Amino acid sequence: ATPMSVMVGVGRGAKEGVLIKNAEVLEVMENVDTIVVDKTGTLTQGRPEVTAIETFSDWQEADVLRLAAAVEAQSEHPLAQAVVRRAKTDGLNVVEAIDFNSITGGGVRARVDGRDVLIGKADLLDEKGVADVEAGRSRAGSHQAESATVVFVSIDNQLAAILAITDPIKESTPAALKTLHELGLRVVMLTGDAEPTAKAVGSKLGIDEFHAGVSPQEKHDFVRELKNNGKTVAMCGDGINDAPALAEANVGVAMGTGTGVAIESAGVTLVGGDLRGVAAAANLSRKTMSNIR
Ligand code: ADP
Ligand code: MG
Repeated sequence: ATPMSVMVGVGRGAKEGVLIKNAEVLEVMENVDTIVVDKTGTLTQGRPEVTAIETFSDWQEADVLRLAAAVEAQSEHPLAQAVVRRAKTDGLNVVEAIDFNSITGGGVRARVDGRDVLIGKADLLDEKGVADVEAGRSRAGSHQAESATVVFVSIDNQLAAILAITDPIKESTPAALKTLHELGLRVVMLTGDAEPTAKAVGSKLGIDEFHAGVSPQEKHDFVRELKNNGKTVAMCGDGINDAPALAEANVGVAMGTGTGVAIESAGVTLVGGDLRGVAAAANLSRKTMSNIR
C-alpha cells in the first residue's frame, strides 16, 4: 500500500503545478542525481521568432518565405510556427503544400507551387544532396553566436535561404538551474540544434555540459548510457523528439506547454513549463521519503 505521506506529497506537488503521475515516480525522484534537459521549449520559451533572413542564388526574401511557410504550416515544431507567423506578419499569401513529410529532429519537406521545398538543419540538406549548403553555413555562425537557431531552406535542391530564428530563454530558467545546482544535481543539456547555438545558450546559462546535433534516438541512448553508469536520471523535454528519452529516463519530466506525446511519455508534468518544478519535485521527494523513514 502507498504510505499516506506519499499521497500527501503528490497532492502538494499538484498544488505547485508539479503533476506527479503516481507514488512510484515520487519515490524514484529522491534518488535522481542527473538532470538532462532539452533546449528548445524547455530552457527557452518555445515561442521563437524569425530575426534574420539571408537569401542565395537570386531568391527574394518574400518568395522564399512564402514557400517555406507553406511547408511549415503543416509542422507542429516551434520553429515551424515562427516561420508561419513571420509570413503572416509580412502579409504573404501562403498556399497549401502537398506531399508533406517530416523528419523528426531534422526538418520538413513538401511540394509547393510545383517546387520541392526542404527546410531543416544543414546536415539534413547535405544528406539529401542539396547544392550550396556550404554557402549558408559560412553565413550561419554570426547568428548562432547570438543564440539563434539557423534553419536552411532548399528549393528544388538548391540552397535558397537561411533563416535565423531566436527563441528567448524562459524567465524562470536561470533560477531553476541555480536551485538544481544547489541541490547537488548535475545538469546536462541535449539539443538537436547546432553546436555554436548550443554553446551560446549553454554558456549564457552556466550549464557545465551539453551535447549538440543530437537526434531523438541519440537522446534516448544518452539517457540509457547514464543509467548504465549507475546514474539516476530525470529527463526534461517538451517535444515529440524528446519522447523516447523521456520514456527511458528514471523520471520523465514533460513541459505542460509541450506536445501531448511528450506528456504521455512522462511521469511528471510541469504546468506552464516552469523548470523550477523539477527542483520542487526533487525537494518534495526528499522530504516525503525522509518522513516515511
Ligand atoms: P531540439 O532538440 O532543440 O528541441 P529538434 O530535435 O526538434 O531540436 O530539431 C533539431 C533541428 O532540426 C532544429 O534545430 C532544426 O534545425 C531542424 N528542424 C526540426 N524540425 C524542423 C522544422 N519543422 N523546420 C525547420 N527545421 C527543423
Ligand atoms: Mg524541445
